[in-house]
Amino acid sequence: HAKEAGRNAYRFFTEHMNAEARERLQIQSLLHGAAERGELCLHYQPQFDLVSGELACAEALLRWNSAELGQVSPARFIPVAEESGLIVPVGEWALREACRQAESWRRTGFAVPVAVNLSALQFRRSDPVELLERVLAESGLPAAQLELELTESVLVQDSGGGTLERLRRLKALGVSLAIDDFGTGFSSLAYLRRFPIDKLKIDQAFVRDIATDPEDAAIVNLVIELGRILRIRTVAEGVESEAQLRFLAERGCDMVQGYHFARPMTAAQFEAQYRAP
Ligand code: C2E
Ligand code: MG
Ligand code: MG
Ligand code: MG
Repeated sequence: HAKEAGRNAYRFFTEHMNAEARERLQIQSLLHGAAERGELCLHYQPQFDLVSGELACAEALLRWNSAELGQVSPARFIPVAEESGLIVPVGEWALREACRQAESWRRTGFAVPVAVNLSALQFRRSDPVELLERVLAESGLPAAQLELELTESVLVQDSGGGTLERLRRLKALGVSLAIDDFGTGFSSLAYLRRFPIDKLKIDQAFVRDIATDPEDAAIVNLVIELGRILRIRTVAEGVESEAQLRFLAERGCDMVQGYHFARPMTAAQFEAQYRAP
């Protein structure tokens, strides 16, 4: 009956594949035009200075409320958007909206820097420098109030030094640069020295068990130390507990972000919670 079992497994497999492929296609076609239909919005999650406890920055995170699918999590639609190239217009919408929001807050006395995630594709496909210039000019937001979060893949895919050049031009605009999910990619230490990076965001996968797993603790320690040596600020992502916070404070991590402090929330909630009365 091995043959029959094999056949069943095959059928199960292809049906599963088809369902997944169908879902991706559906997400792709619905995401197209989602911004124009008003289905996208940004939520904001605070980052705090670990020493002073002060609000340091707000990370803008995309949310999609689809008329057909309901709330779709970024874990589902961002990979599809990256594969299909839709991340270019969707990411541009997010950048524009974050700058508009930050400038509207700043003009009314609530100046909080915003961090926007930029996908590797946005970096390769189009000229991010020209886009940033345009969006900053349109919104009126001072460049110093904007941080761009890039993944290590951006650094790794440096063909012929083009990336270094682009990063330098971005820095010259006055924005700051963070490496997101640090430790999960393959960037070499040499890249970190060479590229004009302001912040390393330690991936939450390493932060999760720092209080109990000696290997994760060692990795996080190393990144904090590396940041100190290279004068790059370190941020721990996904901080959920007092024990993790204590560990990070003892080791001298600069900033923290995570559910222990706040979940991502709407712009209105963010303002209500963090604007000084
Ligand atoms: P990311 O940039 O690394 O963002 C951090 C993710 O961790 C967010 O998930 C956030 O809600 C979640 N998070 C924050 N604190 C905690 C915590 O304490 N515990 C746990 N378990 N999770 C925490 P989210 O909002 O679902 O976004 C997932 C990813 O989607 C982001 O990861 C980012 O890579 C991507 N993304 C979101 N918005 C954009 C965007 O505008 N453009 C691009 N290119 N990517 C985006
Ligand atoms: Mg991020
Ligand atoms: Mg991250
Ligand atoms: Mg991530």
